[in-house]
Amino acid sequence: METVAQIPKYNLSEEQEKKLILREYRALLRSLKSKLKPGDRKTIRLAFEMAADAHKTMRRKSGEPYILHPLAVARICVEEIGLGIRSTICSLLHDTVEDTDISLEEVERDFGNEIARIVDGLTKISNVIDVNASKQAENFKKILLTLTDDPRVILIKLADRLHNMRTLESMKREKQLKIASETVYVYAPLAHRMGLYNIKTEMEDLAMKFLEPETYKEIAQKLAETKRERTKYINEFIKPLDEKLEKTGFDFEIYGRPKSIHSIWTKMKKKGVAFEEVYDLFAIRVILKSPAEREKEDCWKVYSLITDEYTPSPERLRDWLSNPKSNGYEALHTTVMGPEGRWVEVQIRTKRMNEIAEKGLAAHWNGPDESRFDKWFQQIREVISAEGTDGIDFLQDFKTSFLAEEIYVYTPKGDVKMLPVGSTALDFAFSIHSAIGVKCIGAKLNHKLVPISQKLRSGDQVEIITSNKQKPSEDWLTFVVTAKAKSKIKDALKEEKRKIAEDGKYTLQKKLEGTGAAFSQHNIDEVVSWYKLSSPLDLFYQVAIKNIDLKDLKEFKVHGDRLEPPKPVKQLPELKPEVVPTISKKETELIIFGESSDKIVYNLANCCKPIPGDDVFGFVTTGKGLTIHRTNCPNAAKLLANYGHRVVKTKWAKNKEISFLTGLRIIGLDDVGVVNKITNLISGEMKINIAAITIEAKEGLFEGNMKVYVHDKEELDDLVSKLRALTGIHSVDRFDTETL
Ligand code: MN
Repeated sequence: METVAQIPKYNLSEEQEKKLILREYRALLRSLKSKLKPGDRKTIRLAFEMAADAHKTMRRKSGEPYILHPLAVARICVEEIGLGIRSTICSLLHDTVEDTDISLEEVERDFGNEIARIVDGLTKISNVIDVNASKQAENFKKILLTLTDDPRVILIKLADRLHNMRTLESMKREKQLKIASETVYVYAPLAHRMGLYNIKTEMEDLAMKFLEPETYKEIAQKLAETKRERTKYINEFIKPLDEKLEKTGFDFEIYGRPKSIHSIWTKMKKKGVAFEEVYDLFAIRVILKSPAEREKEDCWKVYSLITDEYTPSPERLRDWLSNPKSNGYEALHTTVMGPEGRWVEVQIRTKRMNEIAEKGLAAHWNGPDESRFDKWFQQIREVISAEGTDGIDFLQDFKTSFLAEEIYVYTPKGDVKMLPVGSTALDFAFSIHSAIGVKCIGAKLNHKLVPISQKLRSGDQVEIITSNKQKPSEDWLTFVVTAKAKSKIKDALKEEKRKIAEDGKYTLQKKLEGTGAAFSQHNIDEVVSWYKLSSPLDLFYQVAIKNIDLKDLKEFKVHGDRLEPPKPVKQLPELKPEVVPTISKKETELIIFGESSDKIVYNLANCCKPIPGDDVFGFVTTGKGLTIHRTNCPNAAKLLANYGHRVVKTKWAKNKEISFLTGLRIIGLDDVGVVNKITNLISGEMKINIAAITIEAKEGLFEGNMKVYVHDKEELDDLVSKLRALTGIHSVDRFDTETL
């Protein structure tokens, strides 16, 4: 994709700009109307004027006056998250301390301590993901600490990020990639965890639009093309339900809702199917008006009515009425077989539950659910303050422990424990108590004996079996997922190592004294560096487990009580800091197969097998130079979000000499001569080399996997469209040759 220079589409006179700003400001006040108390209007006006004045010389990348951004963020907070007056003031001021002359003291003087604290939180996290990876994790921790201080900080931050995503078009391509990657990696899961489903979905869709523009367009177009047909189907599906519900006298709404582009794409990838084969492209939703004491009963009544009409799929019933998700979400979900044998997802919830589903945390914070969030925040604080949480590991652990969907499992006494998806019996043991975790040797899962690595599922009843002889081992770290289990296992391993090392320390002391040298720090350090170890603890440990026999000590000379190594200590080859190819950080673009590529070592990533013409980026790898990934590589989001500073903008040069191996999967009718037709087209007509081909036929269909050599994407696209045009061919898709 070409990066097109952005020309500000903005061309308003000063007068028109003023009008536009005022119009936005008035719209903000209108949506706040029901919440305004005497005096609020004045305070908001003050914040607006302060921000407008501070930003008055600034413009956004699109050319718009900057103040339109804080105004938009404030409107998102009010209209889409349901926040109130104070959050509005904070939103208006959120970029002032960071980017203008206004100081935190001034904010505090004019608006008080509470507002100043939130603005301070927003300032601290304004550049979360920046500069380098370790700093980023530090910053992320900072966010989380501020978040647990006052959740409004994170809600306003999410609104800020959403508006930046909505206006991402005017940024440069690298910036777009970086911001979009961070958004799917950190902010969308955070929005999900805060219960802001609409915001999460919009963030994911917008990110995909920039990260995988072609697929995005393709799915959007297919959705548009099939819209009429889908609407017709959904109306037909709803009709009998509508009549039944009407008869029973429920006060309800029922409507269809298309799935998001991102979720359709996720499903296509997960199941390896084409758009046409994603079966539940839409969901219908029933919203009931029901008094508090009858909510649950009414939802189940509706469930019963619907499943009388359509057969439900038993594995797809989700009861979040009895056990709400930890973000507060309550509803009943099921998938039923509609007319023509198509699956339709049905969501049943009350108006109150719907409010929570749409506005998340803000809708019910300070309500009865507050304790649930408190518990979550408490867990986060525990993990952040634990020692040894560093760098990327922390981010990854945090994501799996706190941002993932959760499962519910039961203790033998019937108490419910909530754990992230993917948790094992061992995670469960640690969640009860770390003393139980370290002694866990197995578990009974629904009364059957299972190993500690057994993955748990919602509804499982788990009984932990312990033994005093058990000790944590290194490999435990490979299967636990919760941050608590991980950090407790690491602590225990370190402690164990320290205990063993005691023996080694004693051995070393005896041997040193045997040579006449003292057991001093100087001498220990000499031995540590002789064996090229990282610390005295390491040395003691290696001696204790007999990896090191200390025979070399004989060759040391002893002066007084000081050791002297026999010859200069052999230096390890120096660990060079990341060998960053000499590309200036500026706007340079690396041309693969062009002039600049002669000077740079690069290789093509195995995970996504880019070919010329693909949208790609370069990633600086220690020692290996540059690895070229596709921007839609499964690893791309993680790399771009975590190591933005190591990403180099990359473009292909025109190439007709080198060929690249790429995989194609062809599905079609098993017809006589079909293989012939395909191979004729590829090697005969198009003169493309086939490296391998396998064909499997089943029940009248065939699936062919082949590896072909192409020069670039253009040639590949040409080949794909010609193959698709052959009669009897259903689908032709590219896949990574790795998976062959
Ligand atoms: Mn902002």
